Amino acid sequence: MNAKILSLKLKETGDRSDWRWQMQHRLQSVEELSQYIDLTDDEKKDIHKACDVFPMAITPYYASLMNKKDPWCPIRMQCIPDHRELIEGHGDMDDPLYEDSNSPVPGLTHRYPDRVLLLVTKECSMYCRHCTRKRKVGDQNTCITDRDIDRGIAYIKDHPEIRDVLLSGGDPLILSSARLERVLRKVREVPHVQVIRIGTRTPVVMPQRITDELVRMIKKYHPVWINTHFNHPREFTPDSKRALAKLADAGIPLGNQTVLLRGVNDCPIIIKKLGHLLVKNRVRPYYLYQCDLSRGIEHFRTPVAKGIEIMEALIGHTSGFSVPSYVVDAPGGGGKIPVLPNYQLSITNTKTVLRNYEGVICVYEEPQNDANTVCPPTCTICKKLRVKHEPIGLQKLFDPKNRMISLVPEGNTRKARYTIHKGKAHDC
Ligand SMILES: *Cc1c(COP(=O)(O)O)cnc(C)c1O
Ligand code: SF4
Repeated sequence: MNAKILSLKLKETGDRSDWRWQMQHRLQSVEELSQYIDLTDDEKKDIHKACDVFPMAITPYYASLMNKKDPWCPIRMQCIPDHRELIEGHGDMDDPLYEDSNSPVPGLTHRYPDRVLLLVTKECSMYCRHCTRKRKVGDQNTCITDRDIDRGIAYIKDHPEIRDVLLSGGDPLILSSARLERVLRKVREVPHVQVIRIGTRTPVVMPQRITDELVRMIKKYHPVWINTHFNHPREFTPDSKRALAKLADAGIPLGNQTVLLRGVNDCPIIIKKLGHLLVKNRVRPYYLYQCDLSRGIEHFRTPVAKGIEIMEALIGHTSGFSVPSYVVDAPGGGGKIPVLPNYQLSITNTKTVLRNYEGVICVYEEPQNDANTVCPPTCTICKKLRVKHEPIGLQKLFDPKNRMISLVPEGNTRKARYTIHKGKAHDC
């Protein structure tokens, strides 16, 4: 345990329903694990080896959900170290999302125009084996200090375009309420910040943390949205449902981000059931993530085709709001890319041919007017907001005023040859 956790001013209560007890009694050794599940000597050795590289921590609550005898138990696979974590995977990277290099100040990633990711701690109550920030989480050598966070907030203050601040980690709800409140207050004081978001797995792995006192504090800083991280129907328990109800009752809009994990939830029936449980508990499925290329998690990866198959089975087959967006977080820091089954079969000037979820093919008659190129006659919203009509990316090709005919990737060799021979570079 590092200084950050000790600073939570842990007190021994002996009460399993107290989150401080859960934190204090996290399982961190094979010996402790053996009290919860049956392990062979070989399994114990493997766990030891994997723990040396990627530490283990499991809350007693989450451990109690494991099936004692089943090595394929989806709860167990998410929390127990596995020797496959040590295999160098195909395409593995330390920081596939370039979170560190897209970082103007340490702990803050500014990838999209109007929102930032601010890491407020590297600690989690439980270390998920599939964690994309595995290289950072539980790292005893470095921690995020108040000074780091303050530098992040100063950056946000200096950038009026930032209207959405996403607090992440680690798990922000691992902080004491006082430390979390300090961050929320400071971010809320920035006039151009409209929305604060918290990304947390706490309702899943340590629901005891979601106390009346915590939600009373958070709701002072509304609008605060929370995204949680349920991956499997088995994670719904009376405790986790109670935690979600407290958050929802405090008026916090709830979303969920699921990671598609081989052997855990890579099945349309599991993901559909998960979506139904989420909406029953007032949580909107937000993203279904393709597993990242982080080191030590290749055994969890599925082909993208599996995600498409799942989306095919969800869209149209169940309520729109219980279907998440399926995204691939682009290696190299390109951001989240939505991926969908193909619904558009063909298109002409007059008709678009589509197929529905049942495979029925239908035609949409295109309007014979130029409505899509004309503003509503009296609209002045863009003038009032002083929005610059500067097309970005593909918009440049669509833009009727722009004569650009192609977008050329950086380092295009054909273009370089042209420059040399003709002495003049063109756009294409
Ligand atoms: C995911 C992410 C966000 C938030 O993206 P949304 O699509 O708005 O949820 C912001 N910044 C970074 C770096 C992210 O990875
Ligand atoms: S809670 Fe999130 S950050 Fe923490 S170990 Fe799990 S996936 Fe990683």
